[in-house]
Amino acid sequence: MSITDSISKAWSDLLAFMSTLVIPDWSALIGLLPLFVLIGVIGPILTLIILGWLGYAVMKPRVKVSYVEGTKVAPRDHLGRPIVPAGEPYCPKDGLIYATGTTRCDLDKATLLVRCPKCEVVREAGIQACGNCGLVLKIEPRTLILASDRPPPGGAAIA
Ligand SMILES: [Zn+2]
Ligand SMILES: [Zn+2]
Repeated sequence: MSITDSISKAWSDLLAFMSTLVIPDWSALIGLLPLFVLIGVIGPILTLIILGWLGYAVMKPRVKVSYVEGTKVAPRDHLGRPIVPAGEPYCPKDGLIYATGTTRCDLDKATLLVRCPKCEVVREAGIQACGNCGLVLKIEPRTLILASDRPPPGGAAIA
């Protein structure tokens, strides 16, 4: 066997090997066609459904908690008592937590309560200083705090 013969044999072997790689098995692919159609059509529809469902799940709680700005619904313990954070006014009957500075409940007009962040003693939200430990909660509205920057009345007379 000459060198040329062995090279040509190797070449034909290589071609035969390549042909098995390059030429696809069409009958098998056509058999899989319904599967590709299924993935191509059902896939996007399924994705849209999942996205829509996720969008609804995200949007739903926002619609549920649509109370007045700054008012939150307090979670309740196993006895049905509202769990409220210290230092924030709340209505014990309605279980609503109000913004700092609020003293009356919007629903039943009841006096709001506040729990002292230092000693945990509960008092009326309208009372600034804690009767037990003396901790003062600033409840003035923003406008009043800004007004206090002006010179006090009678200050000009002294100067
Ligand atoms: Zn209330
Ligand atoms: Zn206190």
